[in-house]
Amino acid sequence: MSELWSLTDLKDVRVTDKYLDEAFHVDVKNLLNLDADRFLAGFRETASLIKGESPEETKVFMKSKSRYEGEWEDKLIGGHTMGHYLTAIAQAVVNTAATSDEHKRLQERLSYLIDSLKECQDKTIGTGEDGYIFGAGFPKQEFRDNPLLQFDNVEKGLGHPFDEAWVPWYTMHKILTGLNAAYKIAGNETALLVANRLGIWISNRTDRWDDKTHKKVLGIEYGGMNDCLYELYQINRELKENNSPLACLDYERFERAAHCFDEVELFEKILSGGKNLLNNVHANTTIPKFIGALARYEVNRSEERYLQYAKSFWDLVVNEHTYVTGGNSENEHFGEDGVLDAERTNVNNETCNTYNMLKFSRRLFAVTGNIKYLEYSARTFINAIVASQNHETGFTTYFQPMATGYHKVFNTFDGNFWCCTGTGYENFTKLQDGVFFREDGRLAIALYIAAEYENESYKVSVDCDFTRSGEVKIDITPKAGAKVNDDLWLRIPKWTQNGEAELSINGEKVEVSKKDGFIVIPKGKIADGGEIALLLKVGLSYESLPDGDNTYAFLYGPFVLSARLGTKKIATRPHGIAVVVSAERSVDTDLIKITSESSIKAFLDHIDDHLIKRPGEMEFDLTGTDKNLVFTTHYNQYKESYGIYWTLEC
Ligand SMILES: [Zn+2]
Repeated sequence: MSELWSLTDLKDVRVTDKYLDEAFHVDVKNLLNLDADRFLAGFRETASLIKGESPEETKVFMKSKSRYEGEWEDKLIGGHTMGHYLTAIAQAVVNTAATSDEHKRLQERLSYLIDSLKECQDKTIGTGEDGYIFGAGFPKQEFRDNPLLQFDNVEKGLGHPFDEAWVPWYTMHKILTGLNAAYKIAGNETALLVANRLGIWISNRTDRWDDKTHKKVLGIEYGGMNDCLYELYQINRELKENNSPLACLDYERFERAAHCFDEVELFEKILSGGKNLLNNVHANTTIPKFIGALARYEVNRSEERYLQYAKSFWDLVVNEHTYVTGGNSENEHFGEDGVLDAERTNVNNETCNTYNMLKFSRRLFAVTGNIKYLEYSARTFINAIVASQNHETGFTTYFQPMATGYHKVFNTFDGNFWCCTGTGYENFTKLQDGVFFREDGRLAIALYIAAEYENESYKVSVDCDFTRSGEVKIDITPKAGAKVNDDLWLRIPKWTQNGEAELSINGEKVEVSKKDGFIVIPKGKIADGGEIALLLKVGLSYESLPDGDNTYAFLYGPFVLSARLGTKKIATRPHGIAVVVSAERSVDTDLIKITSESSIKAFLDHIDDHLIKRPGEMEFDLTGTDKNLVFTTHYNQYKESYGIYWTLEC
C-alpha cells in the first residue's frame, strides 16, 4: 500500500462524547491551577546563573518562587514537565471543546510561559551558551557552578540520576517538543524563535561530538531527540519554501543534529530480526527512538529503510510484548518474546509507553495506510489512555497492573511530576487526535467516538456509544454553496462480529463496498450531504496470551472488561524513584473453576451464556463457575481493584 493519509488538525475536530468531554475539562482545570512560575523557577535560576547574576538578582528573577518538590521537578530531571505542560496547553488552546473562559486563560498561560522562556533565553546571549534553556534542579553545588554539567557528564558516559545526570537529553526532547507544539499547533511565533535558538545550541553541541562521545551520549536515555529535531527541521523547511521571515536560515543543521540521535546500529539489529531482541530493554527509552526513525522517513521519503526500521519495531512490540489493553512492559522493561502471562505484576504498562505507541501507530498509518495501526490505536485509546485517568480528579497513572487484584494508582495535584504525569496532561487535551484522517479526496473515520469534524466545504457529525448500541450515525452537511468532494472511508473494526456491518444512506440500505479494511462511500452518494447509519455488531469476545494458554481477558465490542474487586485492599507503597504503586492484591488467585461445562473450550464457545449482560448496563455477571464476579468496562474503573486476566480451569 502506498496511499498516504494525513491526521486532521486538532482544531478541526471536536469530541462531543460526554465522558471524554468531562475528561478534557478536568485536565484543563488541573493545568490552569498549576503555578506557571514554579515550573519556570528552574529555567529562571539556570539563566541567571549562566549570566553570572548575583543571588539577589536571581531571586528577583525567579519571582521568589521555587521548583515544585517531590524528587522529580526539583532534581536533575527537573524541567521535563515544562515540555509536557507546553504541549498540553498548546493542544488545549486549539481544542474547540474549551469554554471561552478556559480558552482565554489557556491562551494567556501559553503566552506567559513562552515569553518567560524567551526572557530566560535572552540572558544567555553572549555567554557562549547562547540559546540554552533548561530547568533541572541543582542537588549539589557543582551543578550550580556549571549549569551544563549534566550534558558534560553524559558525554563522559556518566549517568547516575542523583549525582551525575538524570537523562538531560530526554528532558531536552520534552522541552523542544513543547516549543514546537506551541508554534505548530497554537501558532505562537515566539515559541518558534525560542525553539530555533535552542536548536542551534543543540546542534552546536552535537557538531562537536567525535565517534566515542557520540556513542556515550546514545548510551543514556535521550527520548525522541531525533523526532523533535526532524520536526523543527520540517517546520523551518516549509517556512523557507514559503519565503517566511520566521524561518531559521541555517535550518539544515537541525536535520544533521537529528541524525546524530538516530541509533542506526539498534535500528539494524531490530530490522534483522531474531529472538528476544528486546529482552531487558527499557521500553520507554526505546520506543521514541523508533518514532524518530519514522520522523526521518516523514521528512525524506527516499529514506525507505527508516520506515522499515519503524515498522519492524512496531510489529515486535505489538505482537510479542503487548497486553490486551494495548500496554506493554513490566517494571518499565520489555521481557522475552511472548512472555506476558508470566510477567503480569503490579508494575506493568507504563503509561508513557502507551502514549508513545499511540502516537507512533497513528503516524505509521498515515504513511502506510495499513489498517492494523488503526486497530491497535482504537483499542489502546479507550482501554489504556482513557483508562489512565481518575475521572473525578483528572490525575493519571504511571503503571497499569495486569496482575489480577491490584488497583490503579494516580499522581497527585502537585506532588508527583512523573514522566507519565506529563504525558497524562497531554493525553486528555488531544482526545480528538486520530479520530479522522484526510487525504485529497478522502476522509476516513478511524476511531468511533462521538465527535465532529469540519473543513472548508462540509461538516461531519459522528454519534455513537457502543455501551448502548452498535449504531453509528453520521451526519454530513455541506457548507452553503459547497459540495462534499470527499469519499467517506469508515473503518471496519475487527471486533464487529464476523466482520458484519450494515449500512444505510438517507434511510436506504446500500451494498457495502470494502477496501483496505474500510467501507468506502463514494462522494457521488453524499455530494449534497446526508445521513449515514452504520450498524456494527457489538458482542463478547476473549483473548489469551502467548504464554498463558488458559489465561483469558474478555472484551465487549471495543471495551476490555475487568472484574470489580472492591475497595477493601487499596494500599500503596513507594517504588523506584518516588513512584507510588499498588501494594496489595484483593484476591489470592486468579483461578476460575468452570462448573457448568465440560471443557474450557465449551465455556468460551458459550461465553454469551456465562458472562451475562445486565439490560441497559455495562455490568456482566459471570455464571457457571466457582466465582461470583461482576465485570464492567475497564476504562472507567478508577476506584476499585480489578481483574482483567483470569486463568480458567475445568
Ligand atoms: Zn512514564
